[in-house]
Amino acid sequence: RDYKSVALVVGVTGIVGNSLAEILPLADTPGGPWKVYGVARGKRPSWNEDNPAEYIQCDISDRNQTQSKLSLLTDVTHIFYVTWGSRETESENCKINGLMFLNVLEAVIPNAHNLRHICLQTGTKHYVGPFQFLREIEAHDPPFTEDLPRLEFPNFYYTLEDILFQEVAKKEGLTWSVHRPDNIFGSSPHSLMNIVRTLCVYAAICKHEGTPMLFPGVKELWNCYAVASDADLIAEHEIWACVDPNAKNEAFNIHNGDVFKWKQLWNVLGEQFGLEEYGFAETGERISLAETMKDKGAVWEEIVRENQLLPTRLEEVGAWWFVDLLFGGEVSIPSMNKSKEHGFLGFRNSKKSFISWIERMKADKVVP
Ligand code: NAD
Repeated sequence: RDYKSVALVVGVTGIVGNSLAEILPLADTPGGPWKVYGVARGKRPSWNEDNPAEYIQCDISDRNQTQSKLSLLTDVTHIFYVTWGSRETESENCKINGLMFLNVLEAVIPNAHNLRHICLQTGTKHYVGPFQFLREIEAHDPPFTEDLPRLEFPNFYYTLEDILFQEVAKKEGLTWSVHRPDNIFGSSPHSLMNIVRTLCVYAAICKHEGTPMLFPGVKELWNCYAVASDADLIAEHEIWACVDPNAKNEAFNIHNGDVFKWKQLWNVLGEQFGLEEYGFAETGERISLAETMKDKGAVWEEIVRENQLLPTRLEEVGAWWFVDLLFGGEVSIPSMNKSKEHGFLGFRNSKKSFISWIERMKADKVVP
């Protein structure tokens, strides 16, 4: 088949990698027809087997492995970098994530002679600081615009950008774009941070045990406006940046373009799982999911068995630490003006997006 573009999706089983792997091969995707290579660390999971992407198992934190596997991909025209490695401290994050990204670029850039564009995905933590310092740093005044100066704290997103700029400069005509999503609504059993999946698992456990599904966040968050980024929308944004000259060599925020309140989505979640009791715990004490869910491994096993779900362990699907962190304070909203002014008019209705990913995870048998 005659392909017009060849994608290398690094992190293909992740939350956005999964969307890219599904959208790129479609007949009407801009820049197509696309051939797709997908890289992930583990063996190809069963739920990914039907995807047309050519799957490459490669640990990109290993320089030799990355060289030997990715330097062979001489026909790649576009890189989508949608992965990360998580460590305790941000300086360790800078080190490991810098290494992973550089390994990929050093294997691909010198060998893929038709390489034209690199999309790097980072996120809103560009403006508020990394998890390690979340809400301890004085962040910029929202809505966040892409031209705000960097914060004076280590941040692996800055490391990634610097590596991107340095490596792209080595090849004439090679362009880049940086994509900064907010909390992502999507579906991947493998993602380190998947808020919808984690909340669905929480809902399923509450339903199974007949306990009320209490909001594990602070009151300010329950009531304030929040935003989310649909994984398919992010994939569309990244593909747009590959084909539109207006999007070259720029960083862009990307979220659904509307606002919602968690108290509204909490009702949706309760309805989707047929719960009778759900809401904000008026006891005044913050609920920690890491704490309340820590002994629920056996309960989850039972839920998986009874509903013949995809076999997963609770610690894989319930990213409690992530929700505990996110739900610890008010949300600051990034601006979508720059994307729109440069020609990206995509959007999602966040409530519908939330429901669609819940339905998707039920259909994929990730949750009951
Ligand atoms: P993810 O956790 O969903 O997916 C990671 C993918 O990378 C998986 O396919 C995994 O197999 C692969 N991977 C991990 N380590 C690897 C290694 N050593 N070698 C090869 N493959 C490896 O990723 P994500 O959440 O989309 O994260 C990508 C970027 O988006 C990160 O910078 C993250 O901070 C940012 N982001 C994520 C969210 C979110 O809600 N998930 C929100 C905003 C920003």
